Amino acid sequence: MKVARFTDGGRPRIGIVDTGKGLVYPLDDKLSNIADLIRMTAGGFSYHGSGNAGIGLQTVKLLAPILPERNIFCVGKNYHAHAKEFSGSGYEAGAVKGQEIDEYPAIFSKPPSTVVGPGDTVELHPQATSAVDYEAELAFVISRPGRNISTADAMNHVWGYTIINDVTARDRQKNHKQWLAGKGLDTFCPMGPWIVTADEIDADNLDITCHVNGELRQKANTRDLIFKIPQLIAAISAGLTLQAGDVIATGTPAGVGIGFDPPRFLRAGDLVEISVTGIGTIANSFG
Ligand code: MG
Repeated sequence: MKVARFTDGGRPRIGIVDTGKGLVYPLDDKLSNIADLIRMTAGGFSYHGSGNAGIGLQTVKLLAPILPERNIFCVGKNYHAHAKEFSGSGYEAGAVKGQEIDEYPAIFSKPPSTVVGPGDTVELHPQATSAVDYEAELAFVISRPGRNISTADAMNHVWGYTIINDVTARDRQKNHKQWLAGKGLDTFCPMGPWIVTADEIDADNLDITCHVNGELRQKANTRDLIFKIPQLIAAISAGLTLQAGDVIATGTPAGVGIGFDPPRFLRAGDLVEISVTGIGTIANSFG
């Protein structure tokens, strides 16, 4: 099931998307936050029709599916080829040749103020950076709270999947060493176009692509993740309680702007489109 958050002129609503028919069926009008739906349905979401008439997808404005209540958790250097391109780019503080692959996942976060929705413009922040880059990523949403979650139990804590663009100011990522300063700028986390519930997704075999102005830049499959989703959940939840509605991004594959020589940073007017099989596409322009 594809669960979207949208507005059709009034306040935000949530609904079930039928991409074949091009319609979204609004759920209970009292629900405007998918995190509330997740808390109500953590053990599994079944849907038997909303009783409401479908609204044309083309006529609504899709919003980021989750309004995060705290930072988005993210993972760096989680595909071999990207770990090598990043270490070799000159933009990784403290990079050591021959030690591109880490023994433990690199975990960082992005503030809720980074999150924007499909079609929203990502700010280039020219006063703060001149090196804005894209990162196509599969993200997943936590279903029920847990701490010290085992890898064996981890997938029982996943409610669904979405796409994020982990937009990064490479100069700030390098200069400030810790990644928050380069990853946390306002609008730097486009998310969407909706959440697909976990029962419909095999997260170990999803194609990810990223196009910039129609040119293919990133193409990979999640089977190549270094640290898989159960390992990520176990690592992040060690001594830290994950909450229903938390979003965790799994890392980006090779093909980001700093993988090119010279680097190809984003400019005003650029359009970045990220697609994941079984989920859909999120497109955002930069300016
Ligand atoms: Mg990333």
